[in-house]
Amino acid sequence: MNRRDLFRTVLGAALPLSVRSASVSQLETEIVRLKLRHTWTTVMSSSEYRDTFHLRFTADGVTGRGEGAPIPRYKETAETARRAIEAVKDRITSSDPRQFSKLLDDVFTHIQGEFAAKAALDIALMDWNGQKLGVPLYRYFGLDPNDAPVTTFSIGIDKPEIVRQKVREADAYPVLKVKVGLKTDEEMIEAVRSVTSKPLRVDANEGWTDKEEAVRKINWLEKQGVEFIEQPMPAHMLEETRWVRSKVHIPIIADEACLHPEDMPRLASSFDGVNIKIDKCGGMLEAFRMINIARSLKLKTMLGCMISSSVAITAAAHLSPLVDYADLDGNLLIANDPFEGVLVKNGRLILPNRPGLGLLPR
Ligand code: MG
Repeated sequence: MNRRDLFRTVLGAALPLSVRSASVSQLETEIVRLKLRHTWTTVMSSSEYRDTFHLRFTADGVTGRGEGAPIPRYKETAETARRAIEAVKDRITSSDPRQFSKLLDDVFTHIQGEFAAKAALDIALMDWNGQKLGVPLYRYFGLDPNDAPVTTFSIGIDKPEIVRQKVREADAYPVLKVKVGLKTDEEMIEAVRSVTSKPLRVDANEGWTDKEEAVRKINWLEKQGVEFIEQPMPAHMLEETRWVRSKVHIPIIADEACLHPEDMPRLASSFDGVNIKIDKCGGMLEAFRMINIARSLKLKTMLGCMISSSVAITAAAHLSPLVDYADLDGNLLIANDPFEGVLVKNGRLILPNRPGLGLLPR
């Protein structure tokens, strides 16, 4: 124990509980390397592992855990997330974690960008508060766990024989999400369709820059039993996307175009729905706000994820009873998940009925 920890412990023991809780808080950060079951390829990148940022917040003998997956598109890394939190560590540990809204508002004004870092802190504080209150987080938000939707299982871009193998391995999932947007779109879908007739959802990750091409591809995908298409064109091409939307029949969902609550009103005329991610917006509280704003704009709502462990995926899953679609499979794509949290049974998300996130170490 160093002098600072000793001081905190001695001080903590001498103070009344209300004051003590804030003075003995501890915060630890860690970068965890998650190994992928398959090499993961999308329009943006190809990799065999992902580093995510983890955070443990301890006070009153309770530890809340959080995780954020840095998104390379926004120039975030696990290391920048860690530095962002380390720079405001004292501000966090000297605040009352029960007043998490105030704490997060204050801390976030001192962090530019770094939404994975913000997500990890928000999740850890929500986990801590759920445990202190003795309620699972879905109950904290007033939700019915039986309303949790089916999650898609994602098939990354790959050679046809590998795609067929991935689809066979995904036998337990009733709906698949297929990544397209490179030159191999038809090949990808045909490989999937050669082994399954399940409903498909397709994510182009901004891959098509020509609006006529986007319409052609979407109309072809509709014939292949695709339910909706995510982010067909680059995020800034809202006019073109509105035109595409007027020429196709299946819903168009915004992902890269929809980062924060203030984005949503201007998206409502170009898209039918939005994909909200905790790592992208900076936490469960912000995601909850976004879901409610989207619903008020009559947009379909989807909760998506990055590749991450059960910490971040379970956080999103606790909000999933509120949304129309879930794509919360990031933990299923990795081989070394340190926790068990949300489970998937016949494709449906099963929320843990334990306080906070309800995580169990593996
Ligand atoms: Mg997407």
